[in-house]
Amino acid sequence: MLRFKALDDSFNRLPEDVKAPNDKISAYFGENVFNYASMKQYLSVDAFKSLMNSIETGAKLNRSLSNQIASAMKAWSMSKGATHYTHWFQPLTGRTAEKHDAFYTPLNDGSSFESFDGDQLVQQEPDASSLPSGGIRNTFEARGYTAWDPTSPAFIIGKTLCIPTIFVSYTGESLDYKMPLLRSLHVLDKAAVDVCRYFDKNISKVTATLGWEQEYFLVDSSLIEARPDLALTGRTLFGHSSSKDQQLSDHYFGSIPARALAFMKDFEQESLKLGIPVTTRHNEVAPNQFECAPVFEECNLAVDHNQLLMDLMERVAKRHNFTVLLHEKPFKGLNGSGKHNNWSLSANSSKHKNLLAPGNTPKTNLRFLTFLVNTIKAVKEYDDFIRSTVASAGNDHRLGAHEAPPAILSIFIGSKLTKVLNDIEQKVTGDALSPDEKTELKLNIGKIPEILLDNTDRNRTSPFAFTGNKFEFRAVGSTANCAEPMTALNAAMTKQLKEFKKDVDALITKGKTKDDAIFEVLRNYIIDSKRILFEGNGYGEEWLKEAAKRGLKNIPTSDEAMDLGISDKVIDLVSSLDIMSKREVLARYEISQEDYKLKLQIESRVMADMALNHIIPAALKYQNKLIDSVRGLKEIFGSEYRQYAGDKIDIIKEISERVALVRKFVYEMIEERKKANVLDTPKEQSVAYTKNVKVYFTQIRYEVDKLELIIDNLDWPLPKYRELLFTR
Ligand code: ADP
Ligand code: MG
Repeated sequence: MLRFKALDDSFNRLPEDVKAPNDKISAYFGENVFNYASMKQYLSVDAFKSLMNSIETGAKLNRSLSNQIASAMKAWSMSKGATHYTHWFQPLTGRTAEKHDAFYTPLNDGSSFESFDGDQLVQQEPDASSLPSGGIRNTFEARGYTAWDPTSPAFIIGKTLCIPTIFVSYTGESLDYKMPLLRSLHVLDKAAVDVCRYFDKNISKVTATLGWEQEYFLVDSSLIEARPDLALTGRTLFGHSSSKDQQLSDHYFGSIPARALAFMKDFEQESLKLGIPVTTRHNEVAPNQFECAPVFEECNLAVDHNQLLMDLMERVAKRHNFTVLLHEKPFKGLNGSGKHNNWSLSANSSKHKNLLAPGNTPKTNLRFLTFLVNTIKAVKEYDDFIRSTVASAGNDHRLGAHEAPPAILSIFIGSKLTKVLNDIEQKVTGDALSPDEKTELKLNIGKIPEILLDNTDRNRTSPFAFTGNKFEFRAVGSTANCAEPMTALNAAMTKQLKEFKKDVDALITKGKTKDDAIFEVLRNYIIDSKRILFEGNGYGEEWLKEAAKRGLKNIPTSDEAMDLGISDKVIDLVSSLDIMSKREVLARYEISQEDYKLKLQIESRVMADMALNHIIPAALKYQNKLIDSVRGLKEIFGSEYRQYAGDKIDIIKEISERVALVRKFVYEMIEERKKANVLDTPKEQSVAYTKNVKVYFTQIRYEVDKLELIIDNLDWPLPKYRELLFTR
């Protein structure tokens, strides 16, 4: 059986240095990471060089080298008190998994020694047969393997050395988020380098960069214990809005409440020790909502760090008697939580590395324009695929809810760049650009940054916005593993860059100069991509109509949005780039549909339990009090009692009516659930849950929230929004 257990208890104590957090961050940043500095200390020069080479080029490590690295890791981690090691991976549950093994090996003579060799480092067979595989692992071939990812450094949590790994079936198919991501980064590197060479022959490596922004809510844990919905589903299924919540915008960027700040300092410190470069913290729009963001990193590492951070937040919160709600929509009527994914490409050139940053020379600006327009085209071509990667039960409450980007994918680039693209489109019609025009155009872009910072930040309604030197994908949900949307974006961009290279080369072969060829191809792409560019208000009704006219899809529920990820076009894309096979794509689809359905099923069950066991009894209790009171009034006033008991009788009636409706809806919902559960495929079940089960959530909630307003505050069994949302 599985032995995935929580990391050791030593982690749950408040460390000394949080009590006195006066150290400079540089004094402990990365101290629990087997980073380059520790590698240098524990590895021979040759071994260090070979490892660097393998990280850089993906070259295979030989056995003797992996033995050396394993022994260095063991020595380093034991010097820090580690007793166990684990292959740390990201199965398709969306979270992280770990199975700990002790370093020590017992001997026959009763003694033991500490061991950890290259084989144990490179590959493990954790079994883990209960993790989702979407049918890829039948029980007779149930083995799953984890394999070391040397590009993400090992780290220590508590007394355990954690080794980032990929998770694959014994047939070599991926069962995690990391493997497709790594493959996408690999092909993107090659395609982007090929394009970079038009501008700079010295570029030999391009990495995707990711800076995520993680939003979350904090709620006092003792209140969570009294809210089965929050405890089991991460969101409130009932609860009338608080008289005051976010109307005054007084929480946003306000001073951080002391308890929340203590928690932040603590988890940031733990994150920094693990090399997660968190820098930004602030209050978000809703009360008790906060955000944390790091400095961006190479995409794979950033994904690992985000996964690790979510885990750390939850653990550290316990020390502060808080529960972190990562759910996309914990509270109805209040802003939900997202995870903006800031994405760019970085080349190994000596200066001006960021391929999406306008430069100040014509050469760097043409390069900028090339990558900008290709990203736009890539997203236009694969908007459906990208949309499908942010589909989840939680995110359905957020996308299109007038405080988060709509479910329609569009791109915002700001007025200045819009003008630049228009200029290219118009000027080139007919003749080619004159050398002067080209230079002017290229130079003009260099003046963009200041203006962009000003005008891009204003449009927060766009799901995919260019923000000065990167694109910001804002539709990602706060619980999501960033790897999925990043893999899709990388894949689309790879394909696009390859096309671009082909198109430009074809024109060069026909005798065009390189610059002319690039401009002409970009111009065609600009014309072709117009429908996805949108500068207006993404929350407005107008946009829904306009988007429909443009043929952009608006699919608000995940059961359908997920279908966008299994079209022939998507399967062709990812299989032709060797990122995922058709079987892998379909397996993932099945897992996502299943996960979606299960989440709705759990919510529906919790809702029914709470309605029947918590709400209705409370309502009846209060009603009985009123009935007793009416009886008393009758005793006192005889036939004239109605004169005095009218209001109470009205409330008694209202309670009866609402309770009857709640019961009716709950039982109807249960019937629908039964029907949905016996359908054949996860997809059919998801559709049935969306259409026939989820619809009851609103109806039941409506009646319950009304009851909350009339029942004696002392009899109401659940902490209310005003109590959950204002931590003191
Ligand atoms: P906001 O969206 O809140 O205005 P910022 O503009 O401060 O956020 O930046 C958000 C994130 O963008 C940060 O995590 C930052 O590291 C990241 N970022 C900045 N430059 C890049 C880049 N070149 N590639 C990827 N992420 C980047
Ligand atoms: Mg942002």
